[in-house]
Amino acid sequence: MADYIYTMEIRLTPDQQRGVTLVQDIARGAGMNIYLTGGAVRDIISGFSIRDLDFTVQGNPLKLQKELERAGAVISGSEDDLKVLYLTLPGNVRAEISSSRTERYEKAGKPPVVTPATIIEDLKRRDFTINAMALSLNPGSRGLLMDPFNGAADIENKVLRILHNYAFVEDPSRLLRASRFSARFGWPLEERTQARFESAKENNYIEYISDRAIGHEIEQLAYEDDPLQILKVLEKENWLKVLNPHWTTAKVDTAGLSQLLKTRQQMNELGYTPDPSAAVLYFLTAKLGDKDITDMRKLIPRKTLVDTWKHLEDEAKDLSKRLSGKEAATPSRAWKLLSEEPPENILFLAVTVRQQAVDQKIKNFFTKWRQVQQKVPLAEMTELHINPQMPEYPKIAHEVFMLLLDGKLRSHTEIMKFLKPLAPPPPPPPPPPPAKRGRAAKAVAATAVGQAGIQAPAALGTAKKKKGKGDIAAPPIPAPVAIPANAATAPAGKAKKAEKEKPAAKPVHVTKAATKTPAKPVKKSAKPAAKKTAKKKH
Ligand code: ATP
Repeated sequence: MADYIYTMEIRLTPDQQRGVTLVQDIARGAGMNIYLTGGAVRDIISGFSIRDLDFTVQGNPLKLQKELERAGAVISGSEDDLKVLYLTLPGNVRAEISSSRTERYEKAGKPPVVTPATIIEDLKRRDFTINAMALSLNPGSRGLLMDPFNGAADIENKVLRILHNYAFVEDPSRLLRASRFSARFGWPLEERTQARFESAKENNYIEYISDRAIGHEIEQLAYEDDPLQILKVLEKENWLKVLNPHWTTAKVDTAGLSQLLKTRQQMNELGYTPDPSAAVLYFLTAKLGDKDITDMRKLIPRKTLVDTWKHLEDEAKDLSKRLSGKEAATPSRAWKLLSEEPPENILFLAVTVRQQAVDQKIKNFFTKWRQVQQKVPLAEMTELHINPQMPEYPKIAHEVFMLLLDGKLRSHTEIMKFLKPLAPPPPPPPPPPPAKRGRAAKAVAATAVGQAGIQAPAALGTAKKKKGKGDIAAPPIPAPVAIPANAATAPAGKAKKAEKEKPAAKPVHVTKAATKTPAKPVKKSAKPAAKKTAKKKH
C-alpha cells in the first residue's frame, strides 16, 4: 500500500503541513473524525500544485471556529446550513472544513436534502472520481486512503469521470467544473462523461444552476494559476455568461493580469506569499460595470475575499501616498513601511502604480535594498562576538542594515565605531579539561605536587595553548609557569580573566628562567618535565 502520509508531507508546503496539523489537532481535540478530502487529495496524488486544503469532519465544523481562531486561523466565511467553514490558516493557507454529509436531489434545480453521514457516504455526493477520495488523519487509520470510485486510477489515466449518470442533472455547476478541471489539467472527459456532458448542454440544464454554485465557481477562478486560459474555455462553452451575463474575456485587463501574475511569481521567489485572489478578480472583471461586479460579489462565499477586492484600490492609494511622503523619506523608512505592509497591498500597488518615485521605491525594496543586506559586516560582528546567540543580535543587525541603507556606514572604520560599544564582554574561557584518570595521571599529579611552588595565572593559558595545537589527549599537567613581569600592571580585564583562569589544581613551581621570558621557556620546561616524570613513575 502506498504511504500517503509520506506523499502528503513531501507534497505540502511547510505552511500547509502546519495547517494540516493545526486543523487535525483541533478536530481531534473536539472528538471529531477528520479527513483530508477533495482537491487536496487529488493534487497530492497527481502531483499538481496543492492550492487549498479541503477537510471533512464527522461533526459540525462551525463548533471549531473559536479554537481555530485562537490558533491563528482567520475565518473568511461560512455556510451555516451546509456546515462549511472557509478559513485562511497561518501562512496564507486557504482551507475549507465541511461536515460529512449526503445530498439527496429530489428535483433538478432545487437544493438537495442534506443529512449527516459517514465519510464513505460523503464521498458518494462528490462530482468526479478524482475528487471523491479521502485520506484519514485519525489516529489508528492515519494515512488510509478511501477511494470508493477508484479515482487514483483515473488520475493515472488522466481522465475526468462523473460518479453516476445524473451528476450533471443534479448539479449543473459540475458542467463548469468539468470544463475548468479539463482545461487546468489538460485531461479529457471520459467517454460516457463526455456524452452526459453533451446531453446536459443540449437540454440546457445549466439554467438550473444555483446562486450558491455561481458564487463558488466565480471564487474558484480567483485561485487558478492561469485564470485567463480558464475564462477562455468557459467562454467557449458558453458558461461564462452563466456566472455573469455581461462577462466576456474582453472585459479582462489582460496586461494588468499578466503583470500581476509575474510580480506575484517574483515575490514568491523572494519568500513572500501574497494571496493574489482579490487582485485576480479585480483584473478579470476590470471592464465590467459596477452593478455586475456588485452582483458577483454578493454571491461569493468568502467574505474576506470580497472585502479585500472592494478595498484594493483604496489601500493601494493610501500606500502610494505614504510612500511619497515623509514616512518614507529615507530608504530605511521606506523599507520599514513596506516591510510592515501586507504583501497583497504591495503586489497590487506594484502592478497599478503610476508615480515613478513610488514605483522606484517598490523596485528598490525588491532588488537594490535587499542586496544591501549582503553588506551587513558579519565578519566584524563575529570578531566583536556580536553573534546570533546574543538576545540583542537581531536588533543590532537590523540597525546596521538600516544605517547601511541610508549610506551612514560607508567604511570599515565607521562600521567598527558603531559596533564596538555594542559588543558584549569577551566570553569566559572554557573550563580546564578533566584530569586523566588512572595511574599515569596520579603519577603526574604527584610529581607536580612535589615540584609545585605557587600557581601562576598564565598556567591555564599555557595548557590551553598546547591543547589548541591539537594535543587533546595530553594530560592537564600543571607545568611550572612563569608569572610575566608585567602581571601586576596587566589591564584590569586581563587580570580578572587570569584570576578566573586560575585552576583549582595544585600550585606550580616558578622557575627563574621562565620569569625572564614567559612563553617559550614555559613550553620547553613544561613538556620534558612532565614527560620525564610520567616515564619515571612508570
Ligand atoms: P480546486 O480547489 O483545486 O479548484 P477542488 O476540487 O478542491 O479544486 P472545491 O471547489 O474547493 O474544488 O471543492 C472541494 C471538493 O468539494 C471537490 O473536490 C469535490 O469533492 C467537492 N465539490 C465541490 N463542488 C462540488 C459539486 N458541485 N458537486 C459535487 N462535489 C463538489
